[in-house]
Amino acid sequence: MDNALSDLIRISNETGKDPALTQAAGGNTSVKTGDGKFMFIKASGTALKDMNAHRGWRKLHLNKLHGVIKDKYLAKMPADRREREIINRHLTYCCDGIESTARPSVEANLHAILDKCVIHLHPLVVGAYVNSKNGRAEITKLFKSEKYPPLWISYAPPGFPLAIKTSRLVANYEKHYGRKPAVMFLAKHGLFVSAKTAPGAMRLLHKILNRCENNLPKLKPLRLKQPAAKKILEVKSAIQKAVLNTTGRLLPVTFIYNKTIACFLNRPDAAKLLAMGPLEPAEMVYVNGTPMWVETPSTEKIASGMKKIVRDGNKPVSAFLVKGVGLFIAADKNTVSIVKDFATGTTLVRLWTLHFGGLVPLTSSEQNFVKRWYLAAP
Ligand SMILES: [Zn+2]
Repeated sequence: MDNALSDLIRISNETGKDPALTQAAGGNTSVKTGDGKFMFIKASGTALKDMNAHRGWRKLHLNKLHGVIKDKYLAKMPADRREREIINRHLTYCCDGIESTARPSVEANLHAILDKCVIHLHPLVVGAYVNSKNGRAEITKLFKSEKYPPLWISYAPPGFPLAIKTSRLVANYEKHYGRKPAVMFLAKHGLFVSAKTAPGAMRLLHKILNRCENNLPKLKPLRLKQPAAKKILEVKSAIQKAVLNTTGRLLPVTFIYNKTIACFLNRPDAAKLLAMGPLEPAEMVYVNGTPMWVETPSTEKIASGMKKIVRDGNKPVSAFLVKGVGLFIAADKNTVSIVKDFATGTTLVRLWTLHFGGLVPLTSSEQNFVKRWYLAAP
C-alpha cells in the first residue's frame, strides 16, 4: 500500500473511533504523496473509523484541485449549481481506478492548500470555543505564547465558500509568519491541524485538544435522580405515537439520562438554549438538527411540534429533551448511537459555551444555505 494511504487510514481510524472528536461521517482527513503530485482524501459519506485499504477514500491530482479555488467562473455561479459542478470536477480528478460514485470530501479544495497530513474534526472541546461569544478571545489567550498561533476562520458554509475564505486568510498568515498555519479554528464548525508527518499531525492534534479541554469549566456535580420507570414508559409511548403520527414510521424509543442531560434539564433557560438553533452544519446534516424541547409530553403536543419543524423546511427530529425527565431518541438500532452522540455532545457544548459569554449558533440564513444545498443534495 502507498505510504500516504496507509498514513491516511491510520490517522482516520485512530481519530474516528472517539465520538468526542467527531460524530457520524463528519470530519475528514488527507495525506499528500511524497512527490507532491497527489492527495489521498476521505470520501464523503464514510465515517473516519470505517475507512480501510479498500474503501472510504479517493486519490486526486493535486494540481487540478488547486485550479478550482482560482477559478473565477465558479465563484460567480449560484451556490447549488457551483457545488454540483465542483463535485463533478472532483470526480474527474480522481486517479485511483476505484469504480465507485464515492466522491472526495467536500473540503478537498481546502485540504489541498494545507501541509502534507491534514486532520479535520468536530471535537466537543473545540465546540465550546467556536460556538461561543468569547471563543476567539479565549483561543488567542490560550495560545498567546505560541510562535505560530492558530488561525481563526469566521463562519463560512462548508465546501467552496469555506475553501475560498480560508485560502485568503492562509495567504495573509503566510505573509505575516512566513509559513502556513498548522492549526485553524473554524467558527461554528471545528478544527483543522496539519503537519509534515502523520505522527506529527496526531501529536499536534492532542496538544490542541488538551489545552482546550484543560481550560473548560467542570460541570457542577448534581445528585442524579433517575425518573420513575412509569414516567419513562409514558413518555416513550407518547413520543412513539407522535413520531408514527408525523412520519408514518413506528420506531423504538430509547431513554438516556446522564450527568450532562441532568445538568442541562436543571437549567431554567434550557428551552431557550435549545431554541437558539443548531451549533454547526453537521448537526443539521446527520441528525436533522437540534433535539426538540418537550415541555408537556403528550402525543398531541409532540406531534404538533414535529409538524411545525417539518413545515419550517426541516426533516423531523429524532431526539427529544423532555422537561424534568431526560433525553429520548426515536430511531432504529443503526442510527440510535449517532443521534445519541450528537444530542449529548451538543448539549454539553451548549453548557460549556455559557462559560465563554454564551452560545453562538448558526443564524437562520446560515441554516438556510445548509438546507438548500446540503440537505437537498442527492
Ligand atoms: Zn467539518
